[in-house]
Amino acid sequence: MSVAHPDTIAVHAGEPPSDGQDPPVTPPITLSSAAGYPDLETIEAAMVAHRGYGRWGTDNHRQLEAAVAALESFEVGGKVEALAVASGMAAIGIAILTEANAGDHVVAANDCYGTTLTFLRDDLPRFGITASFVDVQDLEQVRSAMTERTRVVICEICTNPLIRVPDLQGLASVVHQAGALLVADNTIPTPALFRPFGAGADVVVHSATKNLSGHADVIGGIVLGRPAWIEGARALVRTFGPSLGAFDAWLTLRGIRTLAVRMERHASNALALAGFLERHAAVQRVHYPMLESSPFYERTRRMMPSGAGALLSFELRGGRPAVDRLVKRLKLIRLMPSLGNVSTTISYPVATSHRGLAPDELLRAGITPGLVRCSAGLERIDDLVSDLEAAL
Ligand code: PLP
Repeated sequence: MSVAHPDTIAVHAGEPPSDGQDPPVTPPITLSSAAGYPDLETIEAAMVAHRGYGRWGTDNHRQLEAAVAALESFEVGGKVEALAVASGMAAIGIAILTEANAGDHVVAANDCYGTTLTFLRDDLPRFGITASFVDVQDLEQVRSAMTERTRVVICEICTNPLIRVPDLQGLASVVHQAGALLVADNTIPTPALFRPFGAGADVVVHSATKNLSGHADVIGGIVLGRPAWIEGARALVRTFGPSLGAFDAWLTLRGIRTLAVRMERHASNALALAGFLERHAAVQRVHYPMLESSPFYERTRRMMPSGAGALLSFELRGGRPAVDRLVKRLKLIRLMPSLGNVSTTISYPVATSHRGLAPDELLRAGITPGLVRCSAGLERIDDLVSDLEAAL
């Protein structure tokens, strides 16, 4: 497509060809788990090309993959392919296992999503792969944690739940000097607001469960990388089998069609909520990188000039009992162990996303008993502020 802007790409990329009689403008959903063939020659050709069996993907997967690849590769001239998988965790697992073998080592940001951390800490060693956890804000820590067996460094762009923003370019240069791969989890900004390949990432992963699909009705994930690398990831998915359902692929693509306008509203609501909360006496601290008071403000404005996404968090004075009171009083904003959908939700990281961490790990990650994570939805900001104001 020769179209200029990613917002336009989001509306059109991956469209099925408009040929034949009465071509549909939205793609049909291929629910058939396998294709049927007239003879041995045609089935042989399909098997060689890994076509015709649902675990290897359908047209719905290919359309979704084409759309996400077109968006994420905007700054790097289309030199990236995408692979749709069954969840964000499947995307992270496949990314790591595509690159690392037994004996290898991974360096991870210690503020990654909780299940990413427990996967790296508890599951990877069973495959003979070890992990070290560092503060990626400190590039020296990253450099000194890397060994000659380090294959991957993984970080998140707007971390969950403290919304910290790494210096991705600086990180990429440290990682590349040591010959490793930089994997960036771009779930929170989405390619509507930030595209990590342009800043030096080698692999990008998404939980498509969140803003990418956007309506709290999909569990899905995406892995992106250079075509030859994605071919390796695809082979792993064919054998491990964490394939996305065709309907989920369709729903995710449907979500991407409105991604640009949704992210604009998510980001403006998040910033307005962060400003309101920062001024409220019941709130001790607000974490949102587009607040001028944030230590990440200048970097975020450079990296994400259109906004930093839906996610913010705040610490209530009064710890867990104060959080409990807030949750019970809110009328519009619901408590939910997820984020990134059309409605505004809150979550309690100590009990949800980071419940696998020990108390000292929680403290090191800055997750206090009063911390509430909020995912700003698409409602009118006045209604959201009223709900919070009454509950606080
Ligand atoms: N990455 C981030 C930043 C997340 O917030 C999550 C889930 O909350 C995941 C990955 C995992 O995604 P999924 O729940 O789709 O497996």
